[in-house]
Amino acid sequence: MTKYARKIAQIVDGSNDHLTAEQIFLRMKKEYPGIVLASVYNNLNMLCDTGRVRRLLIEGSPDRFDKTLRHDHVVCNVCGKLSDFKFRDLTREIEEELGGSIESYDLKINYICPECRRAMKKNQNNS
Ligand SMILES: [Zn+2]
Ligand SMILES: [Zn+2]
Repeated sequence: MTKYARKIAQIVDGSNDHLTAEQIFLRMKKEYPGIVLASVYNNLNMLCDTGRVRRLLIEGSPDRFDKTLRHDHVVCNVCGKLSDFKFRDLTREIEEELGGSIESYDLKINYICPECRRAMKKNQNNS
């Protein structure tokens, strides 16, 4: 692994924010002022290909990068905020259903986050 790749993996592991490539780039720049965005993209692709980092695809939003420790996600339909959420491991149930082993699965739950729910309630009360 190159020093860039190692540092990028460290940034992703140390963050709960589901960073975009640009956000990772800005953090990398603090340590390596000479780094270019393309190099961050290349390293991220490599890290995802080797399974070191997880890529999250979100419709209408740039890819986010996440640690690979098994966890699930909830996404707010209103503000688009993505949060970690730990649900029981469904691997065995999915495998039984499919009759074979799976590599991974990605559970994404859409909901309305507590802040947006509160804001909506407030609006209702006002009208
Ligand atoms: Zn929200
Ligand atoms: Zn996550």
